[in-house]
Amino acid sequence: MNLKEHLNQASPDQLQHWKQELTAEYQAFQNQSLNLDLTRGKPSAEQLCLSDSLDGILSGTYTTANGTDVRNYGGLDGIDEIKQLGAEILGVADNEVLAAGNSSLTLMYQAVMHAYLFGFSGPESAWKNKAEIKFLCPVPGYDRHFTICEQLDIEMLTVPMTPEGPDMDKVERLIQTDSSIKGMWCVPKYSNPTGVIYSNQVVERIARLGKVSSPNFRVFWDNAYAVHDLVDEPPQLANIMNYARAYGTENQIIQFTSTSKITYAGAGVAFMASSEKNLASFKEALAACTIGPDKVNQLRHAKLLPDMDVLRAHMKKHATLIKPRFDIVLTHLEQAFGSSTLGQWNTPMGGYFISFDTRPGLAKKIVQLAAEAGVKLTPAGATFPYGEDPQDKNIRIAPTVPSVAQLDTAMRVFVNCVKLASVQQEISRRD
Ligand code: PLP
Repeated sequence: MNLKEHLNQASPDQLQHWKQELTAEYQAFQNQSLNLDLTRGKPSAEQLCLSDSLDGILSGTYTTANGTDVRNYGGLDGIDEIKQLGAEILGVADNEVLAAGNSSLTLMYQAVMHAYLFGFSGPESAWKNKAEIKFLCPVPGYDRHFTICEQLDIEMLTVPMTPEGPDMDKVERLIQTDSSIKGMWCVPKYSNPTGVIYSNQVVERIARLGKVSSPNFRVFWDNAYAVHDLVDEPPQLANIMNYARAYGTENQIIQFTSTSKITYAGAGVAFMASSEKNLASFKEALAACTIGPDKVNQLRHAKLLPDMDVLRAHMKKHATLIKPRFDIVLTHLEQAFGSSTLGQWNTPMGGYFISFDTRPGLAKKIVQLAAEAGVKLTPAGATFPYGEDPQDKNIRIAPTVPSVAQLDTAMRVFVNCVKLASVQQEISRRD
């Protein structure tokens, strides 16, 4: 009898037998004193090396095409060369983008703060004037988005992800009935962690939200994985600004991306794109906190990635390095759990994550078992606001950093922990 197919129908003796076998295997892993980490989605050292020619790339030339000396102060919204690249990645005009420091998360934080404190349409529009502010959060989602809301005491309303993107019926219903909803987080391509690419219809419906929302609602369109494809013919994400222009909702959309997972995660360039009106308002506040971004680094990036063709070729090198890592994880999952009720997962075509759903009630247990056998996983619940996964079933696997050999071992442990926890749960369920 096979555990994968017959867990529910197994006799009590069979369950005890599996438990013993899996426990013995688990203890053998524990004896190996493993130390493996599948937690944060960051580039491996080999991926970082792909951009090492950034060092010295300027060869003593510090001027941009229009003669700006990048070593000096100024240029609040970044140099033209890099803004062009950001505009192309995000599908907007050059005057609808600004290029900043290394982190798009910082820009998102600043944009939320800006809407909260100052308002994108003047002081009257500031969210702080309202008694209550809420955000829509598709789940599972990106923990750092949730942290921003939590810090500002913004209540988070969860919306389930579907294979097409957020459940838009629910989104529209909530927005129409609750005027305190002022924002929505979206990771539209290779969503963190589900890998979902929003369908054209979902993108269009999100662009239209500004028509039915209360005033000063903003979509925070975090396109962190815009060019991070693992397959040769990746699906295209629809251009949200084109839809927004058609609906007259351009002011409602604020896009973000960065080169964190293109060049250096700690020393890249981040971008924010929105209507000229929003950018003007944002820059007025930005000018109070900086005289300008790191333009030397922007110029270095513009030299390394002069256009989208070079960028795409560069991303293919990333894919060559990380695809085998995704494949080994997926092979283990398929072998262990394919067509079973023990777990469900996605097969992403890009991005940084594989999202695994256990049987309800087991994610925390599995993460704990894995940790005690030397395999660190992102804490269960991290993909939900307030760290609370109501069904305790989602686990985010980030396979880019460990080697294929390390992933092979880590996944043997993971599979063992999922099986062991599932058998233990089945035994207690029958008690
Ligand atoms: N947005 C998403 C969806 C991410 O997954 C990450 C990093 O994992 C970030 C933003 C962070 O971006 P940055 O490095 O530009 O701050």
